Amino acid sequence: MPKLIRNIAVPRRLLANPDRFGGKAEGDLQRGDLLVMGDQVIGFTQTPPEGAQVTNGAGRILLPPLVEPHLHLDKAFTLPRMGAVGGDLMAAIAAQQADKARWSDEDLRTRAGRALAELQAAGVSHARSHVDWGRGDDPHATPRAWDVLAEVAQEWAGRVTLTLSCLPEIDAFADPATAARIAADVARVGGSLGAWCLGHPKRREGFAAAFDLATRHGLALDFHVDEGQESSLDGLALIAAEALRTGFQGPLLCGHAVSLMNRQGEDLTRLLADMARAGISLCALPTTNLYLQSRQGGTPDRRGITRLAEAAAAGVTTCLGTDNVQDAFYPLGRHDPLLTLATAIPALHLDPPFGDHLALISGNAAKAMGLGPLSVDRLPAHRLMLAEATDLASLITSQPPRRPLLA
Ligand SMILES: [Zn+2]
Repeated sequence: MPKLIRNIAVPRRLLANPDRFGGKAEGDLQRGDLLVMGDQVIGFTQTPPEGAQVTNGAGRILLPPLVEPHLHLDKAFTLPRMGAVGGDLMAAIAAQQADKARWSDEDLRTRAGRALAELQAAGVSHARSHVDWGRGDDPHATPRAWDVLAEVAQEWAGRVTLTLSCLPEIDAFADPATAARIAADVARVGGSLGAWCLGHPKRREGFAAAFDLATRHGLALDFHVDEGQESSLDGLALIAAEALRTGFQGPLLCGHAVSLMNRQGEDLTRLLADMARAGISLCALPTTNLYLQSRQGGTPDRRGITRLAEAAAAGVTTCLGTDNVQDAFYPLGRHDPLLTLATAIPALHLDPPFGDHLALISGNAAKAMGLGPLSVDRLPAHRLMLAEATDLASLITSQPPRRPLLA
């Protein structure tokens, strides 16, 4: 039976063809009576078919699924047992390293399960978690968390699609045997090949090997790169150069890129143009970067966040990630991209109309991960969801519960 949901709103920027979808404009929303036939969303209609089942959608906004490109489920929710933590990125890495002694299978499962329940409640269809590499004293060994989280991902299939990205230091890839073993582990679970690079001495060889292995195994690449304010950091530029040299077909995502703030003028324009040409997507991670960067003592006077606006203007696909939640890297948070967007709005000066920015946590994030587009008018009805909010400022501020359109 056809369904008619009266007086519902859709963010216009999330429609591929707003004119064809119908309804009337209301700020950056489009409002009308929504017709749904089976699993197909027809659009707003003024002439509903006879016998349609009618409900009232007033006070609700129709949304596509959200996509979360950058998490750390191995670390999430470890803060309560850590005692006093604080300091910069290296202090957080040290504190988290000490906590790893407690990462039993059960502990990992419990914490990751809590995170996935939050992602499901937030309407996230796809999420990617990085996983710290190494086991015991061996920084190159496959961590137990890799296999435990792969099992958790299988258990959650059909509710939230969770994929994993390995996170060794980039220097690990400079050793061919280690690199081949890590790539095989990644391929085995359908993950993406990642590493972190912060001025590491063997970064050039490491990136070359990572691109080569990703091409041979058909893997996505996802780097934590230049998560610091030193102007000497060149990881992002090396990745762009390697992507262009090899003609890598992607998907290729770079997170953090904090040191991009040091580049200006021609230098910045050239690098962003190379990134756009190379098909590199850029992920800003406002919570962790605001918390850990600019720790020179006293109140921070730099935001420690990448140049998202300039990258978007240069044609780079840009997105937002939630990163750390209640661990040594960020002590607050919830696995909800709307909360991340709420933090990014003041941090990155994302001005109204807010409909312009929703793609950062839906369609753009999907593209960065190699997934298909997420326009409301091109998705089947079972993938859409409703949130109780009258406008986008209240949606982003209150992050209300989301439920499936067809529930
Ligand atoms: Zn991260």
